[in-house]
Amino acid sequence: MKEFAVIGLGRFGSSVAHALTQMGKSVLAIDLNEAKVQAMSDVVTHAVQADAADPENLKEIGIRNFDVVVVSIGDDLEASILVTMLLKEMGVKHVIAKAGSEVHSKVLQKVGADRVVFPEWDMGTRVAHNLVASNILDYIELSQDYTIVELKPPRRMVNKSLGDLHLRARHGINVVALRRNEELIVSPGADDVIGPEDVLVVVGRNEYMRSFQEEE
Ligand code: ATP
Repeated sequence: MKEFAVIGLGRFGSSVAHALTQMGKSVLAIDLNEAKVQAMSDVVTHAVQADAADPENLKEIGIRNFDVVVVSIGDDLEASILVTMLLKEMGVKHVIAKAGSEVHSKVLQKVGADRVVFPEWDMGTRVAHNLVASNILDYIELSQDYTIVELKPPRRMVNKSLGDLHLRARHGINVVALRRNEELIVSPGADDVIGPEDVLVVVGRNEYMRSFQEEE
């Protein structure tokens, strides 16, 4: 089973540690702050009070044996960058680091983070899309160029088959699933007709996604 560690138990780190534990994963939680470690000790497999910016502490914890380490230190930039760098130097395969700004994100990538998350920014973008486009239910940026969107079909698409709409050929957009009442139709075919109450799950390049959005 994969072993996870979370360094920094602010709101984001604690939420990651909680969710992983709920999914039955083994989680080591680390923080400088004794009270935060105490609060987490009943939740996760192990909770340790330590300064993760000290390489000796990381060695003692045996951090290199963990498969995935999440660095969730926001305010102390120096610690966040140093810890990320040390983890990669020590051979941790997958390091996910939380950034608080664009510059922070760039530096974390430079020092070797395998993935940088930017929770406030990501959530802000999702909320903005949900607010502007009346038919967008959820929005996840997969990369700088691609997004996955869950939406109510624009009126012009209702009662047309996917084959008739030529979304892939014309717009490079793939409908990966159709939600109809309680049923989920995964990988719908050209003959599937879009119903007025259906929810579409589509993947495509950001610029083409706009053609789906109905302004409020
Ligand atoms: P959030 O927005 O997720 O609540 P935040 O980004 O504001 O969090 P911080 O307030 O920076 O997060 O908290 C991150 C946590 O990381 C704190 O609990 C802090 O004690 C811990 N932390 C900071 N430096 C280190 C370090 N060197 N080693 C271990 N833990 C650390």
